[in-house]
Amino acid sequence: MANSRKFFVGGNWKCNGTTEGVKKIVSMLNNGVVPSQDVVEVVVSPSFVYLDTVKSSLRSDFHVAAQNCWVNKGGAFTGEVSAEMLANLEIPWVILGHSERRALLNESEEFVGDKVAYALARGLKVIACVGETLEQRESGSTMDVVAAQTKTIAERLLNWTNVVLAYEPVWAIGTGKVASPAQAQEVHYELRKWLQENVSAEIAATTRIIYGGSVSGANCKELAGQPDVDGFLVGGASLKPEFIEIIKSAT
Ligand code: PGA
Repeated sequence: MANSRKFFVGGNWKCNGTTEGVKKIVSMLNNGVVPSQDVVEVVVSPSFVYLDTVKSSLRSDFHVAAQNCWVNKGGAFTGEVSAEMLANLEIPWVILGHSERRALLNESEEFVGDKVAYALARGLKVIACVGETLEQRESGSTMDVVAAQTKTIAERLLNWTNVVLAYEPVWAIGTGKVASPAQAQEVHYELRKWLQENVSAEIAATTRIIYGGSVSGANCKELAGQPDVDGFLVGGASLKPEFIEIIKSAT
């Protein structure tokens, strides 16, 4: 990564864990020897119910993210968690638009865009996810799909400072089928070009575009070497000691 964008590594723990299990992961993270926070920004995202436990026991150079939040002000929305609540608990980050929520919970592009804008307006920082399905890739529409998803978000934003864009091809998530470094670089390059042409050259140059989908200790180094790959959003491997190796790929 030959640029001024700070490497970013997110750990998406998804709907996993127990009190004991979460404590073990925190202890593994707290004992890990990694580059300083001047070099890499590390954010882990446990389930809502463990956010407080993790936040209060995690080393101070790592931060936490929620995995979702409601699209608007809280109220009569059973089961939801508002951006205000996250801000109130000083949870700095939230992941929005993850493909599992888009697919399994029918979150539309507009709904995701509205959520991103609302969370940012409440002072949260957002990891906004985009990505194509295997069918879309095979039909040659990868860039159209990720550009449309990015556009729906971009149209609602005044400020990109607190946004990290995560490119997560759906076919690579949880499948062990990682995008090749060339495939990742190609989409990241195109996304940055899209930002340059549709938002601004400055936003394109400064916004971190991270890759997610079967990132592991074994493949992270080569992916991290791509000029437009500014970090990772890691699922399965973020629950294991190899997450430390992935963080180390920042250097
Ligand atoms: P994976 O998940 O690393 O397990 O493929 C990535 C993600 O969903 O963010």
